[in-house]
Amino acid sequence: TDLKTLQSESIPVKFNNIVKRFVSHSGQKDFFAVKNVTLNIEPGQLVTVLGPSGCGKTTTLRMLAGFEMPTSGQIMIGDQDVTHTPPNKRNVGMVFQSYALFPHLTVFENVAYGLQVKKVSKTELLQRVQQVLMIMNLLELKDRMPASLSGGQQQRVALARAVVTEPKVLLFDEPLSNLDAKLREYMRDELRKIQQRLGITSLYVTHDQAEAMAISDKVVIMNKGEIEQMGTPWEIYAKPTSRFVADFMGKANFLPATVRQVEPSKLVLDLMGEILEVEKDQTFPVKNGNQVTCVIRPEFWHIDAEGKLKGKVTRATYLGNYVEYEVSLNKETIVVVDYQHYMRYGFYREGDDVQLSLKKERISILP
Ligand code: ATP
Repeated sequence: TDLKTLQSESIPVKFNNIVKRFVSHSGQKDFFAVKNVTLNIEPGQLVTVLGPSGCGKTTTLRMLAGFEMPTSGQIMIGDQDVTHTPPNKRNVGMVFQSYALFPHLTVFENVAYGLQVKKVSKTELLQRVQQVLMIMNLLELKDRMPASLSGGQQQRVALARAVVTEPKVLLFDEPLSNLDAKLREYMRDELRKIQQRLGITSLYVTHDQAEAMAISDKVVIMNKGEIEQMGTPWEIYAKPTSRFVADFMGKANFLPATVRQVEPSKLVLDLMGEILEVEKDQTFPVKNGNQVTCVIRPEFWHIDAEGKLKGKVTRATYLGNYVEYEVSLNKETIVVVDYQHYMRYGFYREGDDVQLSLKKERISILP
C-alpha cells in the first residue's frame, strides 16, 4: 500500500535532566518518582523503558505525553521545547494497555475520531482512514463494534487510531499486557513492523524483558527513578554494567577474577586459575591486580573438549529445548545452559566431568 503519504520526517526526542517530584499531602516526605533522567531517542528509533514496578517508567512516559509536568528539566520533540506544552499540542500518539476505544463507535469511527477533532475535510478523512485500515489489516472489520473484536484486533484498532493523525512521536504504555502469550508475540512483531515502516520515533514502556529485547533499538533500564543503563538489547543483556541490570535481564553467573594485564583493547584475567582474555569495554578504571566480578550468562558457556575450565556436573535438568546444568568449578557453582551440544553428544549426568570454554566478547566485568 501507499505508505509514503503516511510517512513524515522522523524527529528526535530528548529528555534533559528531568526530575519529577510528587508533593506529599499527608506530612510524609515528597517522593521523587524520576530523579535525573537524560535520554535521547534518535529519529525513527524505538526506545523501551524497562524496570521493576514503581521505578518511574509510566511517569517518564506521561511527561512526554504531557499528562505530567516535570518538576525540573526540559523535554524536546524535534527542535520544539514541549516541557510546558499541553498534550493535545504535542503531536503525540498513544497506545494504552486498556486499548481505550470508544465502545459506542465502530472501528471506522474510532479511527476517524482524531481527524474529526482536527477538522480534516471529509474526503481527506475518508482517504486517510481507509489507508490506515488497509495497512493494519482492518478493512474487513471497519463496521464492527469494539466489543465484538478480539484483544489483538482491538489493539490494532488502537494503533490505527494513534497513527492516523500522523503523530511525530508514538507512546506505548504496556500495550500488549492484556493479550495472551502467543498473541503478544505476534502483535509485538506487527507493532514493530508498522513502527519501522512509518519511521515514527517511539517510547515504549513495559516490564517484560523479552518484549523489550524483541522490539527495541535501545533499551533503558530504570531503577528507583534513575537510568541504570541504556544500550542495545545485546549490550543490556550481555554487557550489564551493574548487578541490578544483570539480575533483571535473566540468569547470570557472577564469578571473581583478578586482572593480570591491561592492554588497550583487552584485559587478561585470572578466572579461577585459568588465564582468559576479555574485551576491554568495562565502564570503570581497572589496574593490574584489581579484583573484579565476571558476569556470564548461562548459555554463553560452551561445553567443549578443548575447554580450559574443568568442572563437574552436580545437577542436570532437561527443559525441552535446552539442558540446564549446575557445574562446580573450583569453589564456585555455575549454571550452564546447553542448546546444541546435547543433540549431537547426548546429556551429561551428575558426576560427569566437563570442560568449558567462553568467547571473550561474552564476558562483562563489574568492579
Ligand atoms: P508500574 O510498572 O508498577 O506501572 P512504574 O515504573 O510505571 O511502575 P510509576 O507509575 O512511574 O512507576 O511510579 C513511580 C513512583 O511514583 C511510584 O512509587 C508511584 O507510587 C509514584 N507516583 C506515581 N504517580 C504519583 C502521584 N500522582 N502521586 C504520588 N506518587 C506517585
